[in-house]
Amino acid sequence: MPPPPDSLVAALARAVTGRLGHALGPRLERRLDALLAEASDLVWTLDARGRITYASPAAGRLAGLDPAVMRGLPLASLLPAEHRQTFEQLLRHVVGGDAGDRWTCQVPSARGETFEFEFVIRDARHDAAVRGLVVTGRDVTERNVVAARLRFEALHDPLTGLPNRALLVERVNAALIAADGRRRQSFAVAYLDLDGFKAVNDVLGHSAGDTLLKLVADRIIQTLRIPEPGRPTGPIRGPRRGPPADTLARVGGDEFVALLHHVDHPAGALRAAERVQAALSDPFEIGGRDVHVAASVGVSIGPGAYTAADDMVRDADIAMYRAKRSGDGRVRLFDQPMHEAMAARLRLENDLRAAIERDQFTLHFQPIFPAGRRGVQGFEALVRWQHPERGLLTPDEFLASAEDTRLILPLGRWILREACRQLRRWLDAVPSLPANVLSVNLSALEILQPDAIASLQQVLADTGVPPRLLRLELTESLAVRDPDVAIAFCRAVRALGMSVGVDDFGAGHCSLSHLRRLGVDYVKVDRTLLDEAVQDAAARGILRATAMVAEALDLDVVFQGIERREHLVMVAGFPRSFLQGYLLSRPVPEVDTWRWLRTPPAGEEVQHGHR
Ligand code: C2E
Ligand code: MG
Repeated sequence: MPPPPDSLVAALARAVTGRLGHALGPRLERRLDALLAEASDLVWTLDARGRITYASPAAGRLAGLDPAVMRGLPLASLLPAEHRQTFEQLLRHVVGGDAGDRWTCQVPSARGETFEFEFVIRDARHDAAVRGLVVTGRDVTERNVVAARLRFEALHDPLTGLPNRALLVERVNAALIAADGRRRQSFAVAYLDLDGFKAVNDVLGHSAGDTLLKLVADRIIQTLRIPEPGRPTGPIRGPRRGPPADTLARVGGDEFVALLHHVDHPAGALRAAERVQAALSDPFEIGGRDVHVAASVGVSIGPGAYTAADDMVRDADIAMYRAKRSGDGRVRLFDQPMHEAMAARLRLENDLRAAIERDQFTLHFQPIFPAGRRGVQGFEALVRWQHPERGLLTPDEFLASAEDTRLILPLGRWILREACRQLRRWLDAVPSLPANVLSVNLSALEILQPDAIASLQQVLADTGVPPRLLRLELTESLAVRDPDVAIAFCRAVRALGMSVGVDDFGAGHCSLSHLRRLGVDYVKVDRTLLDEAVQDAAARGILRATAMVAEALDLDVVFQGIERREHLVMVAGFPRSFLQGYLLSRPVPEVDTWRWLRTPPAGEEVQHGHR
């Protein structure tokens, strides 16, 4: 760290003379000059009225004057006219006892260049070595250039050179402020996501993907009011100088956001967004190939009730998501129903968070029966939310939201712990509990956590439950989407002594041979397969084949959703099968589980459906 400028001068002065100022003799002044000769900082000492008593060689070089000639001149007279007043004011403050502020001004050199200097004035009149005011000026031209470059980099996307999200948000906020009180002057935020970009990246490689993004940016810019570089644009508040320039930002891999000024609400905004979309309809030529992309676009319109740019961008994003999901390629406007759906979702999210803290969840248990034999094989734990206002909620009312918000992770931990506590209670009363007596569902997100197995072990250790009592159900979709994770998980779970099965088999694309690779103990057939089998002979064949292959693979089969006698008829006589469904029993609270646990163990042939 260089010493602060005033002490530098004072120290030099002391070193050279022991005294600086009016009495500085020519010989000593030369020595000070020699010491400061190479310094790029400008140094002056002034008397209390601002007249120069000493000027350093660099100060002389900048002004193109001999430092000796400068002596006696008011320093203000050497500054550009527009800065004189500021300087004199600062000087008065310092003389009046204030600490000197930093002050930046542009100074033309004698050779016609312009430099940016940061000046500091210090009062060193009390210092016997100086007895005056010390003004130092540091050339910050370079520093400012670097700062400007850093600011540019912080606010722009390196690939396309477009503004990034931070700059977009800055500009949308500026538009909101400018529109304040002028609600009729609308502007729009259009959120655009390319459809099919990933395929380009995967098939043609990343550099083709990069090229495509740049070409897309160029095409979109053509449809916006963005002037050529160098052409001035109207300020946002300029009523008569035309609308301000639109902004196109790249905010993610294949996501762009345009800020469109002065649009008619809502038709004009939609037209502008459609123009953007249409611009991408012609193919792009990349590496001699025609590449087609489309874009889903969502639009939000300001100012409306918006007060924050983030909200406007988020709403355009939600509308874009709707456009994408509808798959019809239309531009979507963020509207009231979307707003309400989002508000409801936010409420649910907040409620969920609070519910986890307030312990509002409970487990219900649906018995699973071995086909053709008495007693229960076990239960499936199914989570319920005792909502303070809405009553008992089933998972279809909150689970998707818990997964989207990752709240399923704390909720899942609670479920597993509660399931083990339940096992503990049963075990204390019924020491001869059958193996695999309780099945617990796990969401894909839980299994994808790197510590999934470790936290399972922790729960087992904490509750002292023998692992053989527990079964875990994975979703079929995880088994298909992330087979490696699923295989590793199944292996680890079985090594710990638990059993594991695939849920909702037949709803997706999981094959029986895939199950074998997974290494699971049982498979739960999806309810829709049973319904189809009732209707259709071919589906009945599939159901039967599933049961046979499962047996050949040494897997148990659980038929769930046994709702009607026809379902029961469909599965009658299948080997190694188990039954679960409303016809046999709905999920029940803990108190109702005891009667099954205390019935004699399975063994006898029975007719199901008479419970
Ligand atoms: P699932 O794992 O397939 O669970 C079976 C669902 O089918 C349960 O719904 C059950 O009440 C219902 N069900 C049982 N028998 C019948 C029947 O005969 N007819 C009909 N129509 N439905 C029947 P529930 O409790 O609403 O759970 C729905 C889904 O939510 C579960 O499907 C499971 O995927 C998930 N889920 C439930 N509890 C948990 C949990 O603790 N953790 C996780 N991760 N997911 C859970
Ligand atoms: Mg299940």
